[in-house]
Amino acid sequence: MSTEINTDVVVIGAGPCGLFAAFELGLLDIKCHFIDILDRPGGQCAELYPEKPIYDIPGFPVVTGQQLTDNLMAQIAPFAPEFHFSRMVNSIEKLEDGSFKLQTDADETFYTKVVVIAAGGGSFQPKRPPVADIEQYENTSVFYAVRKMEDFRGQDVVIVGGGDSALDWTLNLQPIVRTLTLVHRRDAFKAAPASVNKMKELVAEGKVNFQLGQIAKLDGADGQINHVHLTTEAGDLSIPATRLLPFFGLTMKLGPVADWGLELNDNTIVVDTEKFETSVPGIFAIGDINYYPGKLKLILSGFHEAALMAQAAKAIVSPGERVVFQYTTSSTKLQKKLGVA
Ligand code: FAD
Repeated sequence: MSTEINTDVVVIGAGPCGLFAAFELGLLDIKCHFIDILDRPGGQCAELYPEKPIYDIPGFPVVTGQQLTDNLMAQIAPFAPEFHFSRMVNSIEKLEDGSFKLQTDADETFYTKVVVIAAGGGSFQPKRPPVADIEQYENTSVFYAVRKMEDFRGQDVVIVGGGDSALDWTLNLQPIVRTLTLVHRRDAFKAAPASVNKMKELVAEGKVNFQLGQIAKLDGADGQINHVHLTTEAGDLSIPATRLLPFFGLTMKLGPVADWGLELNDNTIVVDTEKFETSVPGIFAIGDINYYPGKLKLILSGFHEAALMAQAAKAIVSPGERVVFQYTTSSTKLQKKLGVA
């Protein structure tokens, strides 16, 4: 069933720059919705280098990608932004009244006054396992993300992979599925050790089957799989399955951003440096996805861009309302919004 959401601002991309935008917008009383193709916040920081130290975030001599993400989530919590994960924004259409209609690949329509594109290097897209004819089962019984856990209730689920997504979904889905088999080619996992330990407990309790091996072939008909065939050291193995979740990592592709009718420069979106607005008024672009002379693809650049973008967005969301410049250190009004006064 299609869903309609009305809001003031939609931020496309919950990477560090998009997340900080929610803070700057929140200080100006603007609520926002996030849409991200990933199943968690943090963009490149969380997906590509969660445990690597970053040394050039002002005020933090050292912070890992995941710690920075967690801190940003804590910082924006007072403004309660809404997150829509595991979906991609496919299209943006400007309506006659100057507002925008966005469509996602999860059959949702967002109506918004302002769009903030914080899409980084583009959308992270799942790597497809090298299995013949897998396309014919995609989005009916083979999924690369979990959008609704209910779709998996009572199913025979096979999850493939050894990273955080594979382990997190093993733990989250196990209580509601009929059977769950986790398949990984090695007995070593990239996922957080706590998740790996919990998974091993579930295996010991007989609640999860763990299988060392590689996915070789799918059986099924009319978009519905019924068996997953594995190659294992002990020989070929066939597992009854009605849902397959392969987590083979992600690649970054510019994706649909290129089709949104915005002026581009070498796969980045051209913006001005006063408002970080694109060639379409009301659509802003911040972080790695934008281009202007002298642009540095650094997180700190995106934070500055978010602050100036928010001032310009305010003029669109609340036309005619005077914005008084205030410091968070001394403004009781701002401190009330942050829940600290
Ligand atoms: P991203 O972090 O790329 O997030 C963009 C988000 O948008 C993604 O989650 C993506 O899924 C989503 N998205 C895109 N298109 C769509 C769509 N159509 N629909 C839905 N969602 C979409 N920077 C530093 O400042 N210091 C460092 O030390 C540093 N080290 C780095 C080390 C590595 C290994 C890498 C890879 C990068 C490093 N960077 C560093 C760069 C930094 O990570 C980026 O500048 C930063 O992540 C950009 O943030 P962002 O919010 O603009 O975009």
